[in-house]
Amino acid sequence: MSILNNDFLALTLANQDGITPFQFSFPGGIGFVEDTGVLRLEPTQSSATSLVLSVGVHGNETGPIELVNQLVTNILEGAVTLSVRLLVLIGNPVAANSAKRFCDVNLNRLFSGAWQKFEGFEAKRAQRLEQAVSDFYSNVENKADQVKLHYDLHTAIRGSVYEKFAVYPYVENGVYNQEQLAFLAASGIDAVLLSHQPTTTFSYYSFAVHDAHAFTVELGKVYPFGENDLSRFADLKDSLTLLLEKGVLAQSSLSSLCAFSVSDSLVKDDDSYELSIADDVKNFTSFEAGYRIALSNKSDYYIKQTGDAIVFPNTNLPVGQRAGLIVRCALMADLTLN
Ligand SMILES: [Zn+2]
Repeated sequence: MSILNNDFLALTLANQDGITPFQFSFPGGIGFVEDTGVLRLEPTQSSATSLVLSVGVHGNETGPIELVNQLVTNILEGAVTLSVRLLVLIGNPVAANSAKRFCDVNLNRLFSGAWQKFEGFEAKRAQRLEQAVSDFYSNVENKADQVKLHYDLHTAIRGSVYEKFAVYPYVENGVYNQEQLAFLAASGIDAVLLSHQPTTTFSYYSFAVHDAHAFTVELGKVYPFGENDLSRFADLKDSLTLLLEKGVLAQSSLSSLCAFSVSDSLVKDDDSYELSIADDVKNFTSFEAGYRIALSNKSDYYIKQTGDAIVFPNTNLPVGQRAGLIVRCALMADLTLN
């Protein structure tokens, strides 16, 4: 068995409901299709680096899916010689086939066991993806030296003042990893959002449960399959190729990165809740102090400091859920790094 045309995306979309696992060889290693959208590639030479690349956790976020599929094709064809362990996950093939963000519930809210409170396709899928990551990180001889990485690649619903940004998982001690930040900078990431609390996202799961360096990476706006200009991801493609081939994390100066800390979470507290922003407002759009950005029959929210910005605004969700984050620019020089 092998992957027809070395096209893992086509194989996945053609088998959205399941696939018989199989093993194959490629120049420089052995591959395992473990399940629909679950591909493990093991290089011939053992490596301490275990890299997870997940894409399509939201089914319609096709750009990163095409990017990573192209990297996989390059490896399977021998154009790129793999030197690290690699797990590629296409998160939500059913939603991808119907060009939807999700079928029943947002998959990227269901990790760290949150799937247990839900039913439907995404709940089962979150459990399966957790298992795939867990198996991947535990399937090594020398666990102590393992470098665990997980980049969960997305595109956003809306535009962004910073086109590409990463979400840094909540770290309790407030210490951020310099090498990872420099890798994100080298990958063309413009800004880093420092999480203020634990979440149930996929990347947070790998960070919290497996102690991986794990990030949600937003790469620009959503487009349908075939309509993505992959040249917009050129820096990321180059840095991922370097990582795949040499096991090296490309490094750039942190001066090109803007860091944002979360100052408040906006919560939809009533059916009357609305945000006083245009529908197409970009992520990281900033406001003047005193601007009433949210209102409902129960509450108002006024911008506290000029320059405070909104990220992930969305009121099309149930009462009690997060309608956006208010973030504030933090100086990279003020962060504690290790
Ligand atoms: Zn997404």
